[in-house]
Amino acid sequence: MSTIKILLVEDERIIALDIKSSLLKFGYAVPAIFSSGEKTLEKISDIQPDLVLMDIMLKGNIDGITTAAKIRDVYNIPVVYLTSHTDEETLERAKKTEPFGYIVKPFDEKDLYTTVEIALARAKAETEIRKSLEKEKEMNELKSRFVSMVSHEFRTPMATILFSSKLLENYSHKWTEEKKRIHLNRIQSAIQQMTNLLEDILTVGQAEAGKISFNPQPIDLYNFCLEIIEDIQITWADNKHQMNFIFPENFNECKAQMDEKLLRHIFTNLLSNAVKYSPEHGQINFIINYAENNQVIFQIQDYGIGIPAEDQKHLFETFHRATNVGNISGTGLGLAIVKRAVDLHGGHIAVESEMGVGTIFTISLPLHSQLNIF
Ligand code: ATP
Ligand code: MG
Repeated sequence: MSTIKILLVEDERIIALDIKSSLLKFGYAVPAIFSSGEKTLEKISDIQPDLVLMDIMLKGNIDGITTAAKIRDVYNIPVVYLTSHTDEETLERAKKTEPFGYIVKPFDEKDLYTTVEIALARAKAETEIRKSLEKEKEMNELKSRFVSMVSHEFRTPMATILFSSKLLENYSHKWTEEKKRIHLNRIQSAIQQMTNLLEDILTVGQAEAGKISFNPQPIDLYNFCLEIIEDIQITWADNKHQMNFIFPENFNECKAQMDEKLLRHIFTNLLSNAVKYSPEHGQINFIINYAENNQVIFQIQDYGIGIPAEDQKHLFETFHRATNVGNISGTGLGLAIVKRAVDLHGGHIAVESEMGVGTIFTISLPLHSQLNIF
């Protein structure tokens, strides 16, 4: 464990040196002694002490209590007062700064040690509580985003299943085989939709727990991209986007090593986003280029609704959806998975977007990803 640093603020030199030698004896480090509040506030962020021992009466214009209040507000470093002033008024002022202890001079070494140790233990406990409260807040936000997504995205397929199955129950005896099949297909695709959603949730869960597997293998990038484009065109068959695949010369001979499953997540989501968030008949460009240091750059460009600047910062967070999606359905999980998949490849993802103009996602990946780079 690194040595605990205690900053001493005391204007009486002899007392200060005496305290310092006691502190050193107990194994603490004393990186500096200051005799004024001004100097303390100027230097404290460089020193980053674990604790400040603060005299109340100091040289300069601000006393120890004002200095301690600033230290608490700005730096969140625990302060223990060290003083011969014990009148009620001073004590009241000092209390308001929520000190971690109060030692009255003269004191013996054991008092000093006990007070410092209790203050350090309390500070540590408070930091832990603060951290867990922050974590809890994050979890709560995630939970409420999750609940609102699930209620949105599950409701439609559930309603479809309910509706079609009721119709089948009541009318199937009068229906043609063809009509029955339509409703059975609707039920099946609604279930498929929910299964996909659950798979995405699971993938994100695994990604967040750092449990997603990364398995780079030799891959024929050219044919792989063609296959994905075809898949997207089949899945979104009712859409009439024009997809332009633009690649460098001899790209069909490109030898790469990447994780095919993760790559599929990346391109499927980015291309389906481009389709989803741009008008029918819009152009979508899928552009590939080689770059320096054996990197390959993939760009997916659309001329759709764009992403508000405020939302761009949060795009890769789970369940985050931009404010301008209107009634276009989605879970806000796709890009969180994409980001993790890019990270695992040791790559980089960036977005450029303007509302009403369009969006470009740019991804750079090493041509030959290695296992265990992280
Ligand atoms: P899904 O989990 O089904 O992919 P989604 O598309 O809403 O749902 P993401 O792919 O993570 O989720 O995208 C997050 C958000 O980023 C979207 O909801 C949308 O607001 C915004 N977004 C992503 N791509 C685009 C794009 N090409 N144009 C406009 N907005 C986009
Ligand atoms: Mg998406």
